[in-house]
Amino acid sequence: MAETTKRVLLAAPRGYCAGVDRAVVTVEKALELYGAPVYVRKQIVHNKHVVTTLEKRGAIFVEETDEVPEGATVVLSAHGVAPVVHDEAKALNLRTIDATCPLVTKVHREAVRFADSDHDILLIGHDGHEEVIGTAGEAPDHVTLVDGPDDVANVEVRDPDKVVWLSQTTLSVDETMETVRLLRERFPKLQDPPSDDICYATQNRQLAVKQMAPDCDLMIVVGSRNSSNSVRLVEVALEHGAKDGHLVDYAEEIDDAWLEGVRTVGVTSGASVPEILVRGVLDHLAAHGYEDVSAVTAAEESIVFALPSDIRRDLKAAGMSDTMKHDAADTEVGALR
Ligand code: SF4
Repeated sequence: MAETTKRVLLAAPRGYCAGVDRAVVTVEKALELYGAPVYVRKQIVHNKHVVTTLEKRGAIFVEETDEVPEGATVVLSAHGVAPVVHDEAKALNLRTIDATCPLVTKVHREAVRFADSDHDILLIGHDGHEEVIGTAGEAPDHVTLVDGPDDVANVEVRDPDKVVWLSQTTLSVDETMETVRLLRERFPKLQDPPSDDICYATQNRQLAVKQMAPDCDLMIVVGSRNSSNSVRLVEVALEHGAKDGHLVDYAEEIDDAWLEGVRTVGVTSGASVPEILVRGVLDHLAAHGYEDVSAVTAAEESIVFALPSDIRRDLKAAGMSDTMKHDAADTEVGALR
C-alpha cells in the first residue's frame, strides 16, 4: 500500500496579538530612547525567546519593583499590575511605562466599577497568574478568585443578589462558560460582564484549533509553559479531537516519537510567540516529510494598539517615531514579526 501523504494544517490566526506586539515594541522603543538598561517588571510577555532576545539588547527583567534602582526606567508587563505597584514605583522615583494590554485594563476598570457599586466580584482565573493578581488588586475586598469549575462549590458571597463574574483574558472559552453555568446554579442573579473579558486573540486562536483538531493526529502548539493562552490551546485541541498534543518553545523540543504513524500535524502558536519560532517548527516538520502545508483560517485580525501614552510623549519630544510601525533599524525581536 502507498504511504499516506503527510501534511500540516497551519492555524490562522496564531502568534502575536496586538497587546503582546505593543508590549514588545514598548521595550524596544524604551531601549532606543532612554538607552540600556531598561528594567522590566516580570516577563514582558510569557515567552522565553522574546525575553532572552530583549535581555541581549539591554533589558533587565526583575520580579518586583524594589529590585529596580531609584530613578531608573521600568516597563510594566502586558499582564497588568495592582495599583500598589504604581505606588511603589512612585516611591522609588521610577520612570514608569505601563505596557498593560488595553484589554486587561478594561477588566481592571470593570473590577473598580463593580467594587464601587459594592458587588461581590467572582474573578474566574488561575490562582497566582500575574494578570489575576493585578485585577484582584484593584478591589481586593470585593474579589473572590474562582479557579475553574471545581472551585465553584467553595465560593462564598455576602449578598447573592449582587454578584458579577469577570475573568482572566486568556482562559479556555468553553471551560469558563462551564464555570459560569455552575456559578449561576448557585447564584441565579449572577450578572455577566458588560463585554467579553476573554480577549479576541484568545478566542480566535482557540476557534482555529477547534476547526483543525478533528483532522489532526498531532497538534503542536508553539509557546512557553507559563503562557496561559498557549497551554489552553493544547487542552482545546485534545478536547476537540486531536489524537495527541504538545507544547514546545522551540522546534528542537519535538520528539521524533510523536511523529510515528502521524499523517496530519496541526501547528499553531500562543499570543506571545514570534513567527520565527513557528517557521522553525515548519522547517523541522518539512525535514521529516511534512512539506504539504495548508492554512486553516478561522478569523481575520487587524487590531493594532497605540503605544503607551508616556513613551509616545517622550518619543515625540525626541523627534522619534511614536507609532507601532517598525523601523528598519529594529533588530531581532522586531524582525521576527
Ligand atoms: S492575549 Fe489578549 S489580553 Fe493578553 S495581551 Fe494579547 S490581546 Fe491583550
